[in-house]
Amino acid sequence: MIELRTPREIEEMRPAGRFVAEVLTAVRQAAHVGTNLLELDELAHRMIKERGAESCYIDYHPSFGAMPFGKVICTSVNDAVLHGLPHDYALRDGDLLSIDFAVAVDGWVADSATSFVVGTSPTSERAAADAKLIRTTEVALEAGIAAARPGNKIGDISAAIAQVARAAGYSINTDFGGHGVGRTMHGDPHVPNDGRAGRGFPLRPGLVLAIEPWFLETTDEIYTDPDGWTLRSVDGSRGAHSEHTIAITEDDPIVLTARD
Ligand code: MG
Repeated sequence: MIELRTPREIEEMRPAGRFVAEVLTAVRQAAHVGTNLLELDELAHRMIKERGAESCYIDYHPSFGAMPFGKVICTSVNDAVLHGLPHDYALRDGDLLSIDFAVAVDGWVADSATSFVVGTSPTSERAAADAKLIRTTEVALEAGIAAARPGNKIGDISAAIAQVARAAGYSINTDFGGHGVGRTMHGDPHVPNDGRAGRGFPLRPGLVLAIEPWFLETTDEIYTDPDGWTLRSVDGSRGAHSEHTIAITEDDPIVLTARD
């Protein structure tokens, strides 16, 4: 079921969005060469407790997960792109790290993700390829958000994302994509990262969506790591992921999880 939020409810969702942005910024600032993924999870967990927020991940146990997630952030490194289960790993110079984070504050959920390269990232083909991949997910996210307007349909968001990906030479996996957000992390409608403009559910003021382009460098196929969660590219190529929770209004969409 697709639920529309009143302007007042969207205002009530702002603190969750701001908090998600704060945590992602803090985690990003803490991710240095040598930082352990478990330390990043602990940092986010501490912030959740201090804020009195509620993790959407720790008890999360959908059909595609082997067991409850048990952590509060997703940390996907290099060939991992989604659902990376934080584990005992110290970040290395040049690692491409994607952090995904969803939390409930006062009963409203916000969900956001960001990718970046850890360390000094010296000039190299590798660094240039990573920068292009990350930037493409960010530009695709901006294009998807720009299409999130009344009068458009879900397919317009999907088509806008896909156009950016294809123009940059990436193929698209539609197994996982964006979704409605509200009292829970995943609601209707599904927002695929590829689709046909003018098709699908009509966008209306009050629709709150997580839009989340993610691309792999040279494949669109993934497999599940033996940890039961982490999704990796089948060819070892790197992945990147950008996500915001947005609210559709009569005017420009509100990016609830915008970071400074
Ligand atoms: Mg997310």
